[in-house]
Amino acid sequence: STPKEKHEYQSDVARLRRIVINSLYSHRDVFLRELISNANDALEKLRITALTDKSLLQAGEPLNITIKLLPSPAGTGEAGRVVITDTGVGMTPEELTQNLGTLAKSGTSDFLVQAEGASTSQQGNLIGQFGLGFYSSFLVADHVYVASVPAARPEGGEREQWVFASGAEDQSFEVYPDPRGRTLEHGTEITLVVRDDAKEFVDPKKVKELVEKHSSFSTTYPIYLYTLITEEVPDEEASSVPIAESLEHEAPSASPKSEADEDSEAAIVEDLPEESEDTAPVTPPLPPMKNVTREVYEQLNDQPPIWVCDAKTVSDEEYNEFYKSTFKDSHDPLAHLHFAGDSGSTVSFKSLLYIPSELPPDFWSSQMSRVNGVRLMVKRVFITNDLGDDALPKWISWLRAIVDADDLPLNVSREQLQSTKFLAQIKSILVKRAISLLQKLANAPPSINEETGEEEGGAKYKEVWKAIGSAIKMGAMEGSAGQKNKLGSLTRWATNTREFVGLDDYVSNRKKGQKQIFYLAGVGQRAEDLAKSVFIEKLHARGYEVLLLTEPMDEILLNSFQRWGGLTFQDVAKKGLKYGDEDLDAEADKTEQATLAVRFAPLLGWLKQEYKGTVMDVVISNRLVTSPCAIVADQYGYSANMERLMAAQQR
Ligand code: ADP
Ligand code: MG
Repeated sequence: STPKEKHEYQSDVARLRRIVINSLYSHRDVFLRELISNANDALEKLRITALTDKSLLQAGEPLNITIKLLPSPAGTGEAGRVVITDTGVGMTPEELTQNLGTLAKSGTSDFLVQAEGASTSQQGNLIGQFGLGFYSSFLVADHVYVASVPAARPEGGEREQWVFASGAEDQSFEVYPDPRGRTLEHGTEITLVVRDDAKEFVDPKKVKELVEKHSSFSTTYPIYLYTLITEEVPDEEASSVPIAESLEHEAPSASPKSEADEDSEAAIVEDLPEESEDTAPVTPPLPPMKNVTREVYEQLNDQPPIWVCDAKTVSDEEYNEFYKSTFKDSHDPLAHLHFAGDSGSTVSFKSLLYIPSELPPDFWSSQMSRVNGVRLMVKRVFITNDLGDDALPKWISWLRAIVDADDLPLNVSREQLQSTKFLAQIKSILVKRAISLLQKLANAPPSINEETGEEEGGAKYKEVWKAIGSAIKMGAMEGSAGQKNKLGSLTRWATNTREFVGLDDYVSNRKKGQKQIFYLAGVGQRAEDLAKSVFIEKLHARGYEVLLLTEPMDEILLNSFQRWGGLTFQDVAKKGLKYGDEDLDAEADKTEQATLAVRFAPLLGWLKQEYKGTVMDVVISNRLVTSPCAIVADQYGYSANMERLMAAQQR
């Protein structure tokens, strides 16, 4: 036979495997989710390529995943074997080497950098975020064998079954023709030789529980569990003669028999001699038992996918688990919305939306978000997560969604979908629904959940705002006219008197006669510090609320609204500030101002002369309470904040 090819692992792989094997004990059950997800991917690839290359898949060929649990005899040092087989695309020998022996995934090197400096528990969280894919096998297995046959026939050649083999401690792996010959039609069979300390994973109960929790909702193909069940049953051959004989002497009994016993013992009872009147009833001895091993197959994911279920029957935990396994996030989402609709062009669909607990890591760095958060299905079968030109707008690219259209042909291509306007309609429906979900959360009255003691309602929106607030601001800046107002209403601000204030709330909380929305911008500063600014002293003393802007885009955003609730926006560090309660003490103020004007005229003249060319004007201020002076920007000029921003950009 062909000699085994021996390959050294790349240094990255060696590093990764070290982390996996040494420090992730408490997260080792991820191996099953990762291997099932790979099997699902392989089936998906085969189904999709077979749409155009019919030779890959014969009609009626099954697409499925099988998990076999094989206990090992005691004393072998191994707990047993877990064998995961899929009937997917499979791999050529070159692909076995390339895909399993090198780190092709771009995310994995990021993982390495972060994981090597992290504590064990942090590494665990990282695993959840990155997923370790195939290497997680070594969390539970000393040796791993991957046998595979590609679905595609090589040009002019026959397909062979090859094996990738590696031990957890090995610095190298081997690739060789399978000595068992060809056992697979096409697809991949992964055999894990499970370590003794991981024997729970050979237990069908544990495996079922894991599949149900992590994989059943996100795996579109049937997953079968194959187990060998060994039971003790009465050994009839061994029992019939001796028992009957013994009973002759110790005559029995109208001893009570359960119904279940009746069949198996019927034969024995017939052989008995008639009871004699004078013998006392005795319980017959137990029949000898023997072990019988049966094969049991069962489908683990036989329930319909979560998004076609009635929302009333799905628990929050199930929604969350589905989210985490489908969108590969280790954190629960903040909220979800499950709805049915139709696209307006009579395509009806079901959809499930999620708000994640944080923005995708590349949200701000990538031009167009590369994250494809919308998974489009037709009749429960995955079609694409690349909506091309109809992808969600950048500001809402954090949204995670499943859309399952009921009445489109299964082999529909994305190009066809685009031409029917279906995708464009879906996009606008998703954006609308997401906005109304945000509105619902924002307007929910704050409340405490009696059972958990956790804050809900309005408090939830604080979390949402913390996670995606800056993206909502971006949407308010760039969105269409209709969206602009809705998203503007969803923005929240710190003020000198409160922490979490919406613009509508600000307007209804205004003082009598107030015609301006006051704000003070200080990019990168803390709201608490801004609140102590000299520009706010007098407003604060008079009981006005001032929005405190700390993010670069805040000031531009507010000015892009022009007005809110009939009020204009006023930078309190600029000229043009009007108090609404002017009328109340206007007289007193005017007299005082006149007196001050006369008294300080010489000082003003001197200052103007001294700072000629540096300042435009020197005036007596009515905005200060305790501070002696303030430098303000002209009403029509840039604020100091804007100047700082522009200077930063020119650098
Ligand atoms: P990822 O799935 O993120 O690409 P993995 O480490 O899980 O990373 O898998 C690495 C690669 O190995 C996959 O991209 C795929 O090409 C290949 N692979 C793994 N499992 C299978 C399988 N069951 N069938 C076919 N190819 C597979
Ligand atoms: Mg994978």
